[in-house]
Amino acid sequence: MFQGILIEKDDAGYRASVQQIDDSQLPEGDVTVRVSHSSLNYKDGLAITGKGPVVRKFPMVPGIDIAGVVEASDHPDYRAGDRVLLNGWGVGETHWGGLAQKARLKGDWLVPLPAAFTPQQAVAIGTAGYTAMLCVLALERHGVKPADGEIVVTGAAGGVGSVAIAVLTKLGYTVVAVSGRPAEADYLKQLGAAEILERSAFAAPGKPLARERWAGAVDVVGSHTLANVCAAMKYRGVVTACGLAGGMDFPSTVAPFILRGVTLVGIDSVMCPRPERLAAWQRLATDLDPAKLGLIAHEISLAEAIPTAAQLMDGQVRGRVVVDVNR
Ligand code: NDP
Repeated sequence: MFQGILIEKDDAGYRASVQQIDDSQLPEGDVTVRVSHSSLNYKDGLAITGKGPVVRKFPMVPGIDIAGVVEASDHPDYRAGDRVLLNGWGVGETHWGGLAQKARLKGDWLVPLPAAFTPQQAVAIGTAGYTAMLCVLALERHGVKPADGEIVVTGAAGGVGSVAIAVLTKLGYTVVAVSGRPAEADYLKQLGAAEILERSAFAAPGKPLARERWAGAVDVVGSHTLANVCAAMKYRGVVTACGLAGGMDFPSTVAPFILRGVTLVGIDSVMCPRPERLAAWQRLATDLDPAKLGLIAHEISLAEAIPTAAQLMDGQVRGRVVVDVNR
């Protein structure tokens, strides 16, 4: 038996609770992992609270991030005792995830735990942080350099936003943070933000084009915020869009793209090919200051993950949440 969060949906409704689960209930897979830590991402918040249709099979163990040690393996790349990490691949959505003491997975989804990180640090970065790095890599790939001007990061006090600010400032970029939480201004400055703008200035419908300001953008909010960011990009600026915290719609015009040559880059971490994942994790090892990671993340127990998921959905959680599944 092992302990885990189980999401159930039946005539009694949608609910998440900590339960004792029998090993025989574990799904198919060629690697069994003793999980040490998972985390809470926006998607885990949607899954645990039922606020979004993330879970597509019931019952489901949520948790899109997993760090742990291989207990048994039929996969050629992994042996018992190996330290491993997993982000995405539908885990916590269609396949049981990491918010439990055990997981059975496809070995092809795993990556070796990067040597630079403890399991806690790896999930403190987690899907949110690795997605932030995918955004940074996309900005670089499209030629955005620190000298080109300011980078705007929306949803700044959340998981993706926090890591994006920490990494971009370490790389020498000037970052302007957009946040709805004035109380987090000091935190955002400590991460490296040069200026903080109020979220509400981006939330209402805007003009197709605005004064050119941003050389690059990391947007986790979507909807009018993303449209307003695109409208204020400098000539040939680059926007990375990875989130929908403010809405799934994109009420923009083609003006920024056809008149200013703006590039809009979509970022997906879930099915991101393995070489790109490994590259992102390698860059996180060199370009994320561990001291800032300490500032970004805090740790909770498995049982605390359920109420914390509701707080995350209310936009009340700062940075990243590590879940120690064994406490
Ligand atoms: P968090 O909940 O940690 O952060 C989201 C932040 O967005 C909040 O902290 C808040 O920042 C801001 N926010 C919340 N609600 C609203 C709102 N209604 N309008 C405007 N801003 C809002 O989530 P994550 O950082 O983990 O994820 C952010 C987004 O990125 C999510 O939509 C998630 O689904 C997506 N994502 C996508 C991935 C991909 O592969 N494409 C991978 C990982 C995440 P503040 O208080 O500072 O304003």
